[in-house]
Amino acid sequence: MANQKTKTLSELGEFGLIRQLTRDIVLRHPGSRKGIGDDAAVIDHNGFLTLVTTDLLLEGIHFDLTYVPLKHLGYKSVVVNLSDIYAMNGTPRQITVSIGISSKLSLSAIEEFYNGIKLACNHYDVDLIGGDTSASYTGLTISVTALGTAQPQQVVYRSGAKKGDLICVTGNLGGAYMGLMLLEQENKLFLADPLHKPNLEGYQYILERQLKPEACRGLGKLLLDWDIRPTSMIDVSDGLSSDLLHICEESGVGSRVFTEQIPVHPETRKMAEHLDINPVTAALSGGEDYELLFTVSPEDFAGIQSLEGISVIGIITGKADGHLLELGDKSTMQMESQGWNANQRWEKL
Ligand code: ADP
Ligand code: MG
Repeated sequence: MANQKTKTLSELGEFGLIRQLTRDIVLRHPGSRKGIGDDAAVIDHNGFLTLVTTDLLLEGIHFDLTYVPLKHLGYKSVVVNLSDIYAMNGTPRQITVSIGISSKLSLSAIEEFYNGIKLACNHYDVDLIGGDTSASYTGLTISVTALGTAQPQQVVYRSGAKKGDLICVTGNLGGAYMGLMLLEQENKLFLADPLHKPNLEGYQYILERQLKPEACRGLGKLLLDWDIRPTSMIDVSDGLSSDLLHICEESGVGSRVFTEQIPVHPETRKMAEHLDINPVTAALSGGEDYELLFTVSPEDFAGIQSLEGISVIGIITGKADGHLLELGDKSTMQMESQGWNANQRWEKL
């Protein structure tokens, strides 16, 4: 096997690189209850928990300003961070926003971007408390940090899944990726022929999933009302397979997913058919759905099944059982992590 040091960045991939860079990090303070390795870090101030998460969005890597409206981009930049706070079962309270601005953007364009940020702050009841601003030679650069709070007994980590637990997911999957495919397809046609009129009819839902996603803010309360405590949780930002593998890796377990139970919206299905892609592949490997993927104890089966907007899609197995997809005819295949990840674009650079 190649020595880690001699691997290229694209061979390592995002997760391999993070592991390589951070493997010898030691937490010095007892208050640093959870450092690297979950959706957000957890800081304990004598019993009061603060959650912290940050994300970087780069023009040309994560978004393309030729078809992404700046207001939507501002909104989405906030939402992707809040999603990580909800994934810890916490409540987001504050954000900071740092931006590097290229000379091609006007004041009104940046204000439009901020209108999106403010809209998200209003909608999710969070305060914008600071940030940083700089010029940028390399396109628009956005870094948002979100802070949240949680009760100590309330926090849900990626690491608590047990054999026999049910794998559950909110909403539906694959839509944001199909929305991106549609936008890229129409953009290509437009670049080839500037007279081409984008045809986005009938795809409002998947476009919204891509351009103006929402974070799943209601799950924590819903489950609390039903006295159901997730054993593990993550948000689906890189695709179901990649994110489920994170839960399994942190929990030391295996998984079996029933592909027929994976929730897919009709528009996602329609676009996948148009592109000749299996809609299940879009759900497994597409990213940016910002739904919550979580596990619950089998005792909660009846309760969880009765909840609208939540699907039970599989079961946690032993580590030695690996990661399987069970198809409609009961045959099985290996579930690979092919999560769509903007950083895989290193290969293209
Ligand atoms: P998410 O998809 O939930 O945003 P990531 O996959 O980006 O999470 O990150 C996984 C973990 O690695 C998180 O705990 C994150 O804080 C940490 N991490 C990512 N990049 C770095 C870095 N450059 N240095 C230190 N920690 C990092
Ligand atoms: Mg996350």
